[in-house]
Amino acid sequence: MDYNVELIGDYTDHFLNGVRYDNFEDAVTVTKNIAMSLGFFLTKGSMKPRELSNKRLLGICYMYCDRCSRERKSYKPDSSKESRGNTSSKGSGCMFRIKIKELLVNPDALDGPSFWEIQGVTEQGTGLRRGYHNHEKMLYPKGHSQMNQLSQEDKESLRQMRDVGVPPSQQKQTINKQKGDKGHHTQRQMYNLGSKSRKDEMNAVQYALLAAERENYHTEVMKDDDDVLTHLFFAHPTSIQMLKAWPYVILIDSTYKTNAYKWPWVEVIGATPVGKNFNICCALMKDETKESYLWLLQCIHIWGNPP
Ligand SMILES: [Zn+2]
Repeated sequence: MDYNVELIGDYTDHFLNGVRYDNFEDAVTVTKNIAMSLGFFLTKGSMKPRELSNKRLLGICYMYCDRCSRERKSYKPDSSKESRGNTSSKGSGCMFRIKIKELLVNPDALDGPSFWEIQGVTEQGTGLRRGYHNHEKMLYPKGHSQMNQLSQEDKESLRQMRDVGVPPSQQKQTINKQKGDKGHHTQRQMYNLGSKSRKDEMNAVQYALLAAERENYHTEVMKDDDDVLTHLFFAHPTSIQMLKAWPYVILIDSTYKTNAYKWPWVEVIGATPVGKNFNICCALMKDETKESYLWLLQCIHIWGNPP
């Protein structure tokens, strides 16, 4: 089938509701819902700032069709590029775009209030609107992740079920039954939600330690007087076994400024008699003082030479 503008049409106008949104997220939700009602799914691109003459930044965010792929750079609705129809693979190179733009309520008041508006996107140069899809609309949208999202209410009742130990398979049944025809949630969603909520209740370090523990990593931490973490050590059990076998050569090296805290990230490697290297452990330390390295060597010693 040839790319057929008549058949597929420019969908831009469906989105231009002229509403001024106070909140960016509201505009995103409305845009996604309009697309869903038309049988398409949109994903949010990254926010791009636009600078005003007074250095104030206003946002602009593009919404992409979830069947876009980034390979195709040019947009030619009249080209002989064939539509791939409803294929199971997701990317069809669809170039549909819509944007959510932050604008000033009063264009002369640069420091004044702003709002968000849904706008069409036109291709620079050709002036073509990017409101076309190069594929059929989705006939069976039930299975799509956006149709299948859990509401806040669902999440709350799932949390209660988790707290009293209801297994994920039963959580799924209960939630789907509650929603009748609309319930198409999967057990995977229940698992994911469970692990996400555990993540939310912990800080990053606690979660990293829990994840390390789950994978049987050996960990050590050091905290300062205010109970703030200053040193973190972890080593895989296989690495420790190798260290016990070949403890003669140890190389320590650190990298800088590659993490959010600008802390040295220290890697320790060992060497086998045939000249191969192996990873022993890694550590995040707040500084590179003698004390820090002594602590690191102690950790290696503790795990490498049990009594
Ligand atoms: Zn599309």
